[in-house]
Amino acid sequence: MSEAAQLLVSILDELARITDEPGRLTRTFLSPGMRRANRLVGDCMKAAGLKVRVDAVGNLIGRLEGTERGAKTLLLGSHLDTVRDAGRFDGPLGVLLPIVALAELKRRGVTLPFAVEVLGFSEEEGVRFASAYLGSEGYTGRLKSATLRLRDAAGVSVADALKKFNGGKFSLPKPAHRKSNLLGYIEVHIEQGPVLEAGKLAVGVVTAIAGQSRFRLTWTGQAGHAGTTPMALRRDALAGAAEFMAGIEALARRTPGLVATVGALTVSPGAANVIPGEVVHTLDVRHARDSVRRSALMQIGRLATRIAHRRGLERRWQRTQENGAVACSPALTARLARSVQAAQGRSLALVSGAGHDGVVLSALTPVAMLFVRCRGGLSHHPAEYASPRDLAVALQVMVDFLEKLAGEHRG
Ligand SMILES: [Zn+2]
Repeated sequence: MSEAAQLLVSILDELARITDEPGRLTRTFLSPGMRRANRLVGDCMKAAGLKVRVDAVGNLIGRLEGTERGAKTLLLGSHLDTVRDAGRFDGPLGVLLPIVALAELKRRGVTLPFAVEVLGFSEEEGVRFASAYLGSEGYTGRLKSATLRLRDAAGVSVADALKKFNGGKFSLPKPAHRKSNLLGYIEVHIEQGPVLEAGKLAVGVVTAIAGQSRFRLTWTGQAGHAGTTPMALRRDALAGAAEFMAGIEALARRTPGLVATVGALTVSPGAANVIPGEVVHTLDVRHARDSVRRSALMQIGRLATRIAHRRGLERRWQRTQENGAVACSPALTARLARSVQAAQGRSLALVSGAGHDGVVLSALTPVAMLFVRCRGGLSHHPAEYASPRDLAVALQVMVDFLEKLAGEHRG
């Protein structure tokens, strides 16, 4: 393994020890752990020759000016916050890998004609305020005043937390850049899924981040005695919901790329000898193309109507989340794929089923993503693991990508 890859592994290890909760890795928005993480990563940025600052929403920003005056800026980054009891790669990898890549270019005496900003976003996971992307929304000037009113478990609002962080005053930030001044945003992230492992590849290139719709559904029937109510006279809410779920699974299985999940379900009254009178459950539907997702939702809606009608049930829908799909930039993605091919012989295109900072950044600039294989596809778990060998491949891709892009810009 190269010295640069060893450096990356050792900083990832060191960062994983910075936590808000002893015994497990947890760093949430504007917490003491996040401040310490910003200091450690900021020191690494400085060592790589970057100028470091922290913006008003706690994002860590390291900037390297280009050798050409007035040149545009390339953004590289991911998030430094974590879920509760997290792994060490989800987020930090996409911040530390570009820093180590820039340090490696500096060591080789390679300069870049364009400027680079490495971004460590302060919030992506939505742990503290149950609202994700606070960091990238702040950076891109998309933070909403409604978001500022959200409160954490201790009753502190986003606005109060930000005021305290900024020594008493805070106003909604403007976008950090004009669109015309940017070259794009590249995010390196662990795959958090099993596709690269199945394909026996260290890294792959993301073509799109799936759009997603989430719902809360309520089925209402009639509770009754499990022994005395004949089958023909029942209005069993759970039997209806179960038929609905089997139908959704069948639809997703026959629709390429569609994923649909019921992940939580409550049955009332919830006793062995009582017919279920009410069922409440979640539904999460994702696809890389919004048209396919929307058409699937129409079919799912019709399925629910048919089942409810036939079984004498009532059903209610509540939409709890809706994000459109984000297509990655074909030009940046093709460049990244060439560097992947150079590093591991072949490239693989994937769709990201999970949301990433790139979703928010896409409103400001073209985005591309590099996925790194992680063991068993496991993430949001302390056993999350990407091998040093795979990290070395990802690092090689980033160094090669930056060198080639620099060559193109020099003409
Ligand atoms: Zn992440």
